Amino acid sequence: MAKGNGQPLPIVVVGGGIGGLAAAHALARKGFSVRVLEQAPEFREIGAGIQLGPNVFRALEKIGLKEAVLADAHRPPAMEMRCALSGQSVTRIPLEDPRFLSKFKQPYAVTHRHDLHMVFIDACKNNNRITLENNRTVEDFVADGDGVDVTLQSGERIRGRALIGCDGMWSKTREKIVGDGKPLVSGHIAYRAVLKREEVPADLWSPDVILWAGPRTHLVHYPLRRGEIYNLVAVFHSKRYVEGWNAEADASELWAHFKGQRPEVLRMLERIETWRMWVLCDREPVKEWSSGPAVLLGDAAHPMLQYLAQGACMAIEDSVELAEQASARPDNLPAAFGAYVERRYLRTARVQIMARVYGDFYHARGPAAELRQQLLGPRTPEQSYEGIDWLYGGP
Ligand SMILES: Cc1cc2nc3c(=O)[nH]c(=O)nc-3n(C[C@H](O)[C@H](O)[C@H](O)COP(=O)(O)OP(=O)(O)OC[C@H]3O[C@@H](n4cnc5c(N)ncnc54)[C@H](O)[C@@H]3O)c2cc1C
Repeated sequence: MAKGNGQPLPIVVVGGGIGGLAAAHALARKGFSVRVLEQAPEFREIGAGIQLGPNVFRALEKIGLKEAVLADAHRPPAMEMRCALSGQSVTRIPLEDPRFLSKFKQPYAVTHRHDLHMVFIDACKNNNRITLENNRTVEDFVADGDGVDVTLQSGERIRGRALIGCDGMWSKTREKIVGDGKPLVSGHIAYRAVLKREEVPADLWSPDVILWAGPRTHLVHYPLRRGEIYNLVAVFHSKRYVEGWNAEADASELWAHFKGQRPEVLRMLERIETWRMWVLCDREPVKEWSSGPAVLLGDAAHPMLQYLAQGACMAIEDSVELAEQASARPDNLPAAFGAYVERRYLRTARVQIMARVYGDFYHARGPAAELRQQLLGPRTPEQSYEGIDWLYGGP
């Protein structure tokens, strides 16, 4: 397990997305040395927004990064669902509200993925226990009693005391640990774009997170970076399948799905010249994320649909728990990984399952949509907070 100089070997983190960097940072704070292997030529996140529930600020506080994340974030006063056909407000949940803050003790914020990623990159670069390595595509690994041998696509071999698979939705390390094939294609596609503040029509700009719920579609928009830019995500049902996070999108497909919706929705969509797209996938929850000195984290462990806006939040929560367990049993990482999975799998399974339910709710048609309005309409803010307490109040 030790290097030639008597120092323990580093832990190898596969993937330098939000989960991988959060894991590296959290582990290094506990004294572990970490090598992060990222396949891309540079560490970067795509241009899009990300919502951060109060639960993730609880995790970020534990690893000293809450204030850094909040520095560039926008704190929306409320989250509102509107009907994309009638324009009526279905429900409005105050976020910058003493009742919200006293219940959850942490804020709700939205930020640019790049800004969130940069907080982790800076934290990792400032820690000499972490090395960040690009152009390192992990092809395979073999675990033995003493650690792991990792093989890169280049043929190079790297030895580590343990391996954390943070390689996302299309994870190679998951293939090895769980072996449950490709992710499930949901049949939902997300188109995304970011506008400058001045490109958003003044009467449509809102500081809130607004979700326009339509039949088999929804559009979400909110400001980012202290309000300087504006994030749009349009989701609809489609049979298309393209692997990855950044394919170029076909706007005519979008128009076909949003036809007939409120002018506010269509005028917002019209502002966009180039869309990028994601084909949304998830998996059934499993709990076999660890095998000896190898373990999964983030989307590699529990890929979920984005309807609860929690995939990155869950990856960050995972990282905090993993580091806690590893520091409690530094000489027995396989046992630490088992304990981490025990503490995480039911919470993340619930988010995976409930994200599908929320998606159905957002995209409801006919009587299902009427029922949604009837159920959500009369709820008080306190009832809304209570309904999401299992998620925002944890872990
Ligand atoms: C439309 C949409 C909206 C979303 N909105 C939100 C939101 O509002 N809030 C939220 O919390 N979450 C949201 N999510 C989910 C969130 O983006 C993901 O859950 C999160 O990015 C997962 O992070 P990760 O580090 O596990 O995986 P990834 O971000 O996918 O990172 C994996 C990394 O591993 C690298 N990699 C892959 N294979 C290899 C290999 N073989 N060798 C080396 N490196 C490799 C990749 O290049 C990548 O850098 C959203 C997702 C979508 C699709």
